[in-house]
Amino acid sequence: MHKFGGSCLRSPEAFARMGEILKTKPRPTIAVVSALHGVTSALERACTRALHQGRVDLSEVSAPHLRAVAWLSFPRRAQALETLQTLLQTLETHLLAIACRGRMTPRDRDRVLAFGEQASVRLGAHLLAEAGVTARALVADEAGLLSDDGHGDARLLDAAMPATRQRLAAPTIHLVAGFVGRAATGHLTTMGRGGSDYTATFLGGALGLPTILYKDTPGVCAAPPHLVPEARVIGHLSWAEAKLLGQLGARVVFDKAMDEAERMGTRILVRSFSHGDGPGSLISEPRPSDSADALTCMGDIVLIPGHGTNGSPPPLAQLERLQPCPTTGDSGPVTAVARSTAGTGGPATPAQRPLTLVSLISSSQEPPCPAALVAAVETVSAPPVAVGQCRRRGVVSLAVEPHQLRDVVRALHRNLLDPQHHGSRNAATAS
Ligand code: ASP
Ligand code: MG
Repeated sequence: MHKFGGSCLRSPEAFARMGEILKTKPRPTIAVVSALHGVTSALERACTRALHQGRVDLSEVSAPHLRAVAWLSFPRRAQALETLQTLLQTLETHLLAIACRGRMTPRDRDRVLAFGEQASVRLGAHLLAEAGVTARALVADEAGLLSDDGHGDARLLDAAMPATRQRLAAPTIHLVAGFVGRAATGHLTTMGRGGSDYTATFLGGALGLPTILYKDTPGVCAAPPHLVPEARVIGHLSWAEAKLLGQLGARVVFDKAMDEAERMGTRILVRSFSHGDGPGSLISEPRPSDSADALTCMGDIVLIPGHGTNGSPPPLAQLERLQPCPTTGDSGPVTAVARSTAGTGGPATPAQRPLTLVSLISSSQEPPCPAALVAAVETVSAPPVAVGQCRRRGVVSLAVEPHQLRDVVRALHRNLLDPQHHGSRNAATAS
């Protein structure tokens, strides 16, 4: 089971690379594919425009797909263009309906978001063919992926597993749309942002196959590689650790997928799509020998200083005490209430301050002490706003101003996690 995330699918050539990987594998080969890079976010913006401005504009969504079509040679190019046009027309109809009604149900939104994966598998089959690799494109029920009707956060149904096995049995490459399922109502559903990982782990479980998630990082790293390029790759994580990383905001793995993997006992390998043949990170059952690993991650949150009563979404519900740092002079308790609205289109209310949460997760017996974290970032010009501990032992979080993120993460890595400086067995990871 191979899964290619949107971060890998930045150009038509990426499909040629995918073809290279897949062509040597025994058949049947299953490849789960995300939308092309940035497309799902562009679709979310298209929904917002249609809903709030009554405007339908497909240019941002169509551009990367048209580039992919242009890469094909004749007659494949003509066939792919026809496929794309049909999909775009349907998309336009859905967006027009949202714009006309001035209302958008979760079902309407799913119809729009599902475009990304539908287009990437249908065009992907043409792009692979151009690279000399034959594949079948399958969306939702075509691959036996039936879901409940939880639009926006759907769950795939175990009852459909026999159908899935049957549909994916032919000795070829099956290019399956991630993120998208079909409910008994006949409507398309989506699994939540990052949901292709979930589709892949579900299929891995259904077919009894280990799952390889190809990403644009060499694996799950000890700190976010875009901030700390030298951060080491964590060789092994348990499903629960990986899930916690996802919950705290690391974008490298999707927490719902880790639940699924643990439930089904599916082993997962996170590895690089383009950075050569590194070993990557294995996510599976816990191993006692890994117990001294420490992991950090981060996620965007919104804090309301001085309030503690608002409902918290699941990831932050785990934060038990987020206290102002002694150095900042902020008074009163600080409670995390929501993920940052950045990227989701909704504005933060004036009372909320968009801050970024940097967490250090440790699975060792000695969880990091909050004071040690604060001391480790002493050299950073603006100190963290708050420090807190998760209910789960071993997680400490700092809330920092977003522009300080890079400096804070680098200082934490250098002072607490870098084995060259400390000779420790500690490591850290982040999105
Ligand atoms: N395309 C969807 C998203 O960007 C699903 C995925 O990439 O896993 O969230
Ligand atoms: Mg995506």
